[in-house]
Amino acid sequence: MKKIAFKEIENIFEDLVHIRRDLHMYPELSFEEQRTPAIIANYLRECGLEVKTEVGGRGVTALLEGGKPGKTVALRADFDALPIQDEKSVPYKSKISGVMHACGHDIHTASLLGVAYALSKVKENLHGNVMFIHQFAEEVIPGGAKAMIDDGCLKNVDVVYGAHVLSNVPVGQICYKENYMMAAGDKFEIVIEGKGGHGSSPHLAIDPVLIGSQIVTNIQQIAASRINATDPTVITACSFDGVSSYNIIPDKVTLSGTVRTFSEEARELAEKNIRKVAEMACSSAGAICEVIYEYGYPSVCNDSKEALRIKRIGEEIVGKENVSESPLQMAMEDFSYYVKERPGAFFNVGGMNSDIQAIFPHHHPKFDVDEQSILIAGKMFISLVFDYLNRSH
Ligand code: MN
Repeated sequence: MKKIAFKEIENIFEDLVHIRRDLHMYPELSFEEQRTPAIIANYLRECGLEVKTEVGGRGVTALLEGGKPGKTVALRADFDALPIQDEKSVPYKSKISGVMHACGHDIHTASLLGVAYALSKVKENLHGNVMFIHQFAEEVIPGGAKAMIDDGCLKNVDVVYGAHVLSNVPVGQICYKENYMMAAGDKFEIVIEGKGGHGSSPHLAIDPVLIGSQIVTNIQQIAASRINATDPTVITACSFDGVSSYNIIPDKVTLSGTVRTFSEEARELAEKNIRKVAEMACSSAGAICEVIYEYGYPSVCNDSKEALRIKRIGEEIVGKENVSESPLQMAMEDFSYYVKERPGAFFNVGGMNSDIQAIFPHHHPKFDVDEQSILIAGKMFISLVFDYLNRSH
């Protein structure tokens, strides 16, 4: 049966490429998606599925009921684009100025639609159901995942899988990871209010640039000396806004940056210590300090059993030599919310191919990936469904 489903998705590969390129030409920003979810919903209805739109906002879900009773597998693909000007010279280049699918979410969408088509052809033989989750707004906090879950997309779901194509992994390769895979990402902002003055007389001022500089340096000590070295943590000050003049000490400086952690413990320690470092530097200099700490997505932590299922299935599809363990990734991804609620795992599908200039990093104006990844991700999802639902039959 799985072989028939593979044939079905292979047969429509050109259609899936067409869908991907259409989405690529008409990308939509996070929380502004309209055309994309409409296309997805239409396609899923044509596959004969029970479709729900506006799930949690702009999400689309569809339930495929198998011919036999059993569990329910959820498969998730995101569909939003980024505020980047497409600089590729390909016929399917973005037609929307300043907006681009620069992370491959168009690939994820086309792939999952192909899975819905293929599985709908063999549904009588499925021992259980498949919930297709097409998620809006992955790129912008608070993301669409949490809202879709709150709106019930995981109701009756037993396990959840998601995939991301990667332009730095060669096409034809699969990466799996047990336990932590992607980091939690938080934002901090520190406002330092001192007392401005003349650059020649710093003794008469409270220099927020100097205090801010101490904070930038000292927050680097947090990961080094306050958090267990086996629990990777990154704290980076990315913006230091104290625009003034060469001889004028400003009143106020604003610093902001990002925190990446895996464990909740490291996350809490990072926040607590950033506050402490900032408050101590300010109070000892007589300045007023305000720290705003905003939580982004939590870390993606995969269920080990499901990650190993991905490994085994990946080896069947692309060969043992093409499956590897993913390194920890410091990027964040709101797939984390699904695996907080249900067992499941995220995996990566290679998309790099230098022959077609698919070599640029994610979020780059020339980002592209090999469209064979649509088929490989699709076969992975199909196999995961059969393995999870039908293996014991
Ligand atoms: Mn992405």
